[in-house]
Amino acid sequence: MKKDLIIIGAGLSGLYAAYLLQNKFNITILEARDRIGGRVLTINGNDLGPSWVWDDQININKLIEEFGLKKFPQYTKGDAVYETKEGIQKFVPDGLIDSYRIEGGIISLIKSLSLRLNVNIKLQEEVKKVSYQNNHFKIETSNNIFESAYVISTLPPRLVTQSLEFNPPLDSNIKKQFDSIHTWMAHSAKCIVEFEQAFWKDRNLSGFVFSNYGPLGEIQDASTKNSSALVGFFHEKAIITEDEVKKQLIKIFGEVAKNVKKIYILDWREERYTSTKKDRKMVNHPEYGICETLYDDKFYFIGTETSFIDGGYLEGAVMSALYIKTQLA
Ligand SMILES: Cc1cc2nc3c(=O)[nH]c(=O)nc-3n(C[C@H](O)[C@H](O)[C@H](O)COP(=O)(O)OP(=O)(O)OC[C@H]3O[C@@H](n4cnc5c(N)ncnc54)[C@H](O)[C@@H]3O)c2cc1C
Repeated sequence: MKKDLIIIGAGLSGLYAAYLLQNKFNITILEARDRIGGRVLTINGNDLGPSWVWDDQININKLIEEFGLKKFPQYTKGDAVYETKEGIQKFVPDGLIDSYRIEGGIISLIKSLSLRLNVNIKLQEEVKKVSYQNNHFKIETSNNIFESAYVISTLPPRLVTQSLEFNPPLDSNIKKQFDSIHTWMAHSAKCIVEFEQAFWKDRNLSGFVFSNYGPLGEIQDASTKNSSALVGFFHEKAIITEDEVKKQLIKIFGEVAKNVKKIYILDWREERYTSTKKDRKMVNHPEYGICETLYDDKFYFIGTETSFIDGGYLEGAVMSALYIKTQLA
């Protein structure tokens, strides 16, 4: 008979772990949000979470291929722009590493996974307490109590210590370690601006902008088959409003940038199932990797921040799921 396994979190790592382990365990995924995907979020084809994968990321590329998804290169033709106090300067960036997007957005990966899952996914079940006694787990959520023989948490490490209660309690060294781990991109706020036309392309501009003034610090082309769009990341202290974004784009590209169709903004710092207070400050990409288990090796931590290779990225999330397969399958 299959043993019961609870996976906490229906982001990429949780869904992929379920996919890899579903033949061996009877799996229930408990997800706090009212949707699956976690940090992966695509609205009307626009990626408000991750957008890019890179050639050297073997496992995510394999998955994209396995699911028959199509990649296309990030648009980089033409000059880039540096926004200064005085105005703008064009430049030709060198040393750019080719990055790729997925047709339909990164959510296509999540959708493909969910179509292949034969597990119980429970949404709006925020896990609050984990208790372990007599080789058995009791998982308390905001609404229910679940029981299982094994548990995998996919929560970013800081959320583990700040939103889960453990009985017996977490070791203080683990707590300290987890609290020090920044949740990748939980400091970011991203926007997508859709236009009638990709006017930058007509002017031999790639859409790439680097700015110290903002509110957007970095802008890139985000067009899809069906839309012309730019994506921007806000400066840490920027005022996050559509008007500020519009003003900046007109300053950079001129009046033509007035023809905005729609703006999507997502401030990940406000997402309580991703970010904690400590994550609000921007950091350089940290070295990631965790290798801890609890309760007679029956409680595991996965998720991108646990991966020693490509931690923080989609590839790290996939690798953490592949790792758990080596432990449990
Ligand atoms: C703006 C942005 C841009 C990014 N850009 C890129 C990029 O271009 N390329 C790239 O490779 N990576 C990028 N990333 C990182 C990428 O999104 C992550 O590496 C990946 O999605 C992490 O997946 P995960 O499953 O490890 O974690 P998550 O997706 O965070 O999954 C954790 C899940 O746990 C759930 N959860 C939280 N608390 C609870 C609770 N108490 N009970 C139950 N469920 C809970 C969450 O809702 C979530 O679904 C970006 C991220 C962001 C936010």
